[in-house]
Amino acid sequence: MDQIRIQGLEIYARHGVFEEERRLGQRFIVDAVLNICLREAGKKDDLSLSTDYGAVCERITQVMQEKPCLLIEAAAERTAEALLLSFPAVESLELTIHKPQAPIPLPFADVAVSIRRGWHTAYVAAGSNLGEREAFLKMGIEGIASHPLCRVEGAAPLYETTPYGGVEQGEFLNTVLRVKTLLSPEELLSLLQEQEQRAGRERKVHWGPRTLDLDLLFFDDLILETPRLIVPHPDMENRDFVLKPLCDLAPGLIHPVKGRPVCALLRELEKNGEVHVMARRTPQEA
Ligand code: ADP
Ligand code: MG
Repeated sequence: MDQIRIQGLEIYARHGVFEEERRLGQRFIVDAVLNICLREAGKKDDLSLSTDYGAVCERITQVMQEKPCLLIEAAAERTAEALLLSFPAVESLELTIHKPQAPIPLPFADVAVSIRRGWHTAYVAAGSNLGEREAFLKMGIEGIASHPLCRVEGAAPLYETTPYGGVEQGEFLNTVLRVKTLLSPEELLSLLQEQEQRAGRERKVHWGPRTLDLDLLFFDDLILETPRLIVPHPDMENRDFVLKPLCDLAPGLIHPVKGRPVCALLRELEKNGEVHVMARRTPQEA
């Protein structure tokens, strides 16, 4: 990945745990490495296709001076997030904040924290088989899209599907979303569960009817298993109502556990497995 590198940006600010640091302030030095595609800007020699490093330096200065933090860890976290939100072409970054005048009563040259942050790509399966199904799906999508740290980049068509898992219940509408996010996988799961709650979801029967189900399918190529969250979502290779819309968005996406593209998993399931997808539905205006 191409990079824009900023080194040694000096900022007078008031971060620190001591009252005196917050009153008098001191000199901080910031380095930033922005990972960003520069090819178009370079080919066309056009600043509007790149990210203006002057504007980046101004934004860093503004955030560093806006609100004093106790820790440079916090200042770094806030600055990284502000840069990723303000400069959408930046995919990820490494930010270092030096505090060479930190109150350490020993001879030392420098102390600094460095963090790496960036946009993650998540795929989220959405399903509904109770009430105003399409309106519930829309509500879920809008709930995710309105989170300041999430962007819904793509949504597959809606599919009419028959229920899975043996419980007698109504037909589903299913789709998959591609979400860019600065949240962690756990934070994203919490956001999904909040949307289910907002849609009045009640958990009565396992695999039973629901107003809104939002499952995290993939989070970059992360493999994770905790009591609360398993990624990639288990059992998705047996669910055509997940794989079909997923393949509309990203057929070549590699399942990090299976090591195969999701379109190959769908092809295999369509040949040998249960069929639940009945028809594609054209979204209606709510
Ligand atoms: P299901 O989606 O299988 O019908 P639920 O929506 O009721 O069931 O979710 C059951 C539990 O699954 C949740 O409490 C959640 O913590 C857990 N879970 C584990 N991994 C995931 C994931 N990748 N996406 C969504 N929920 C998950
Ligand atoms: Mg679920």
